[in-house]
Amino acid sequence: MEKIRRFICVITQTNPCNLKCGYCFLQHQIPTKDNVLDFKVDAKTFRRAFSRERLGGTCMFNFTANGETLIPPKLLDFVREVLEEGHFCEIVTNATVTKAFEKLATFPESLLSHLMLKCSFHYLELKKRGLLESFFANVHRVRNAGASITVELMPHDEIIPLIGEIQDRCIREVGAFPHVTVARDASQPKTLPRLSCLSTDEYRRVWGVFDSKLFEYKLSVFEKPQRDFCYAGDWMMVMRLRTGLLSQCYRGYRILDPFRDIDSPLDFKPIGNLCPEPHCFNAHAWLTFGCCPTADAPYYDEVRNRVCVDGTEWLTPECKAFFHQKFRENNDEYGFLKKTVVNAEMSLRKFSNQHRTIQRIVRTIRHPLTNIRAK
Ligand code: SF4
Repeated sequence: MEKIRRFICVITQTNPCNLKCGYCFLQHQIPTKDNVLDFKVDAKTFRRAFSRERLGGTCMFNFTANGETLIPPKLLDFVREVLEEGHFCEIVTNATVTKAFEKLATFPESLLSHLMLKCSFHYLELKKRGLLESFFANVHRVRNAGASITVELMPHDEIIPLIGEIQDRCIREVGAFPHVTVARDASQPKTLPRLSCLSTDEYRRVWGVFDSKLFEYKLSVFEKPQRDFCYAGDWMMVMRLRTGLLSQCYRGYRILDPFRDIDSPLDFKPIGNLCPEPHCFNAHAWLTFGCCPTADAPYYDEVRNRVCVDGTEWLTPECKAFFHQKFRENNDEYGFLKKTVVNAEMSLRKFSNQHRTIQRIVRTIRHPLTNIRAK
């Protein structure tokens, strides 16, 4: 079995989307008129920068975007290079860009067995636009070709009356209920609360009917600050494809430019006990693989797989085995001293950053005052 060494979350930073879901964070945060679909480096350079040798072994890559991930035509070149390098890969998609799914289905089965399509099920929007048929046709297309799939429902208050028909449709089409995520309200970045008018108990009762381990686990840690020692920056990192910025986590510090001196080792530095987020809103991926080894979490395959009514499973045997691992099994954990040094270094960086911000504010205030005095 392939051993997992690291997890690279690749954000394409592309904004276009072919759906307009009312709850989408894009409307709160991103200038949606930006239609740039290009990346800082080409796919071959990306593969060299993230070779198995440089990363220390086989890794999990998650490709995601601000808008729909599969809209940039070049994206599949990156996916292919990463798979050919021997890594495992996941694409977060709304499963409606048929051209991309057709192309994916032509990949060799040996590559597809290491690929999972995380098909976000935006039920109401798909229904309104008459796209439900093509959504499921694309899911079937890649599944029949040999890739893993997982269908993930966005639990929005508006679709509560439609729960019955959603369940029926999914049983008919993909042999099981969809998994259910927990949506965050990105218009409140300081707290990232749950996006719903329901109380937590009501929310659990309403969406619990899907019997989704993803939902159960995500809800159990949602809005709870994570204070355990986190290896994000070493075992997990975030890569932004347009700017070429590699950072510890979404808001962590920058790791050495991965494309500058491509043959030199990467400078992995974990965040430690100083998670900068209000809570680990992607715990269903990062904590299930064990970014914080002391945090109790199920395995990633358990929050993604489903056994269908006909006995088949959503995950290929290769993905299922690869997802059923924790980083600590294949990486050395830090001792007390090393952890203390990491935390001290991170605190120092945080302090000097705040200090720089204070200096910048003082400079901004002083500048017009100096001008007034000069007049
Ligand atoms: S706890 Fe989660 S959000 Fe915080 S740094 Fe670690 S992986 Fe990132």
